[in-house]
Amino acid sequence: MTNDELMKDMDIKKSRCLFCSLGCEVSFRAEGGRLTALAYDQNNPINKGSLCPRGHYNLELASHPGRLTEPQIGRRKVSWEEAVTFLRGELGAFASREIGCLVSCLQSNEAALAAVKMAGRKGIENILSAGAAADLEAYGGSKWQVPGARLATLEAIEQSEALLIVGDLLSRSPVLARRVNQVKYGKRGNKIIVLDPNKTHTSWFATSHLLCRPGTEAIALAALAGAIPFSAAAEKSGLPAAQLQQAAADFKNAASGTVIYVPQTRRLRNDLAVYYAKQLAAGSDHKSFIVYYLYGNTLGVNTVIDRAAPGHPTYHQLLDKIDRGEVKSLLMFGEDISAGHEELQKRFRMLKFVVFAGHFESESPAIYDNSLILPLATQFEGAGSFVTADGQLAVCAPIAPAAGSKTLPEICRLIAEISPAENEASELAVQGPVSQTKDEAEAKAELAALPPLEAAPVKPITYFGNNHLVSNFFWYRVNVNG
Ligand code: SF4
Repeated sequence: MTNDELMKDMDIKKSRCLFCSLGCEVSFRAEGGRLTALAYDQNNPINKGSLCPRGHYNLELASHPGRLTEPQIGRRKVSWEEAVTFLRGELGAFASREIGCLVSCLQSNEAALAAVKMAGRKGIENILSAGAAADLEAYGGSKWQVPGARLATLEAIEQSEALLIVGDLLSRSPVLARRVNQVKYGKRGNKIIVLDPNKTHTSWFATSHLLCRPGTEAIALAALAGAIPFSAAAEKSGLPAAQLQQAAADFKNAASGTVIYVPQTRRLRNDLAVYYAKQLAAGSDHKSFIVYYLYGNTLGVNTVIDRAAPGHPTYHQLLDKIDRGEVKSLLMFGEDISAGHEELQKRFRMLKFVVFAGHFESESPAIYDNSLILPLATQFEGAGSFVTADGQLAVCAPIAPAAGSKTLPEICRLIAEISPAENEASELAVQGPVSQTKDEAEAKAELAALPPLEAAPVKPITYFGNNHLVSNFFWYRVNVNG
């Protein structure tokens, strides 16, 4: 029986995976309104029925018995009515400048806009996104204007004659392995150049691995883009100038090419690296760049907040305000950013009131004297749109009952009277990052000031292909501190 025949008789519901910004389509079998199993729709154009190991956790996200279903004041379970009365009362005790609001980059564009509008109604200026630090830094670099730089499509990646991959792409977005392989074996002479200080699952596919010193990726990219001499980059990155020169020529001479950037925490200046990745791609009509963020809607949430709340503070500015006691209450929508983070928990002890809207129980009630937990709907229970790494709008319809949770727009409406127009959020989100001018001399001075990093401790990887028993095989994380 073919996959199509198997799926025909089932009640199949479709949504999207947000565990990375590739945004694979995820299909579920539904029984009696509940999502009971994953299905694999081989006809979808993004992942053609494949899901990576992380993507399989979507079933748990949709139907795990540990999902929050009732609000909690501290440890006490309460009704939504009591929670909202409590929330309004507590927030009313603070001046608007004393309240901070963070929106997770796993939330929808509509959620980000609802939070901005709620903040606007309440006079809250401290509204910003929450996501992976490296993602947010890279997103900053994506705003720096480079004339001629184009965002890659999935088709452009697959049809490239040369890929320049910075970082461990196949741990970040494993489903892309099929497309990378398509390039590697599609045509004789195709090139896969990997720039990474470590041997990784991705470098294993490389035709040329630029094994640079840790933290010098931005410098190597600047040389590949022709912004600094190869000799200068060689000295700092430890890469032979001839190898850099060859990689630059391979990429330049390919009829088509894509620079794929994977933000990583241990990299120095992800923003500068993205800026030079854009410069490298801007050289020809058939070259493009793409950034594969860890959080599925990093592009959408940041674009909506930047465009709808210009002048909002940065993450570090917000933390400084908390340290100085200027921000006393924090709304964390979709992410308890202090969970498992001792240093942040210490800093957040200054806070007088913490709200966490999430899918699962967080550490907050035990840590903060005064906290409120709100059960938050996932993309499976509430409608929303998201922007994938290639700038495409992914629209999710509700496919499962909410079981006690509410979407972020619903929660924001309970806090303040707001009514964003239909499509307003998605129209903002697809406009892409706000363009900013970066002074080239300043970028070069910042590059020159980058210190070298020590090599990260690396766990040995054993590949299926090398005839050894698979040991230490952990698809997601290769570097202990990666
Ligand atoms: S590659 Fe990314 S989007 Fe696709 S299933 Fe894995 S985590 Fe989800």
